[in-house]
Amino acid sequence: MLNRHQDDTGSYPVEPDNVHLARARQLVAGARRIVVLTGAGVSQESGVPTFRGAEGLWRRFRPEELATPQAFARDPRLVWEWYGERREMVAACRPNAAHHALARLASSRSGSGPDGRTATLVTQNVDGLHLAAARALAHGADDAIPTAARPIELHGSLFRTRCTGCGERRESHERVDASATGTLPHCARCGQLLRPDVVWFGEMLDEPTLSAAVDAAGAADVCLVVGTSAVVYPAAALAQHAVAAGSAVIEVNPEATPLTAAATISLRATATAAIPALVGELAEHAGE
Ligand code: ZN
Repeated sequence: MLNRHQDDTGSYPVEPDNVHLARARQLVAGARRIVVLTGAGVSQESGVPTFRGAEGLWRRFRPEELATPQAFARDPRLVWEWYGERREMVAACRPNAAHHALARLASSRSGSGPDGRTATLVTQNVDGLHLAAARALAHGADDAIPTAARPIELHGSLFRTRCTGCGERRESHERVDASATGTLPHCARCGQLLRPDVVWFGEMLDEPTLSAAVDAAGAADVCLVVGTSAVVYPAAALAQHAVAAGSAVIEVNPEATPLTAAATISLRATATAAIPALVGELAEHAGE
């Protein structure tokens, strides 16, 4: 599908063309179950750095060297120092228009209405910005976020810890003191060392998390793929699973990806330009 914005890679935001946008809106509006897969492209517009080549510890280490269970076993202080820097950089970023529009979509279709319509957010990002948008919509009250509107974070979150002893997961936004091993965060329940609750290189994805994503993809009649090339496992497998189950695929990406050829509609656009237009009006009319 040729798109007139194909060569327009220099200027942002890249606007979707109206014909494709109108068709995509129709699909979204008519869908009973939507699954949304998001990747780094959504966060980029919030200024979340890619980290490679950034300052501080990022200059001296590659993610493959420190985001591993072996590195944490060898030197937990160094790994926590690195994650502490990363948390501070990401904490300065805010959800953008695409995060907010997707949060409204998920919240307005939380499955509790008579029509049972749902929209499940599945993200590869660990920056917590989808959850932050859901929280903003719930006016900061976490327990006011419908369970079905909570994003499925495939690779975990920078702002959660997991106990290396008892496995307990917790939200965590405090500054980490990584000046010595003794000052690192420890479990309030069992006293063992806490680790960032992210999936490291060489680790399996959390099974219940992955299952929830697979179920959502298999049940979807529309699969929206935003800001990810969907070539990396598990995003690729999830998109293929949705297609095999008969779902239409709407791709939102300023550049062509390996998924483009298989997509029902490919919107060559940035997430902030396309997503509010694609779902914003639906959210406004959700109460009718
Ligand atoms: Zn514990």
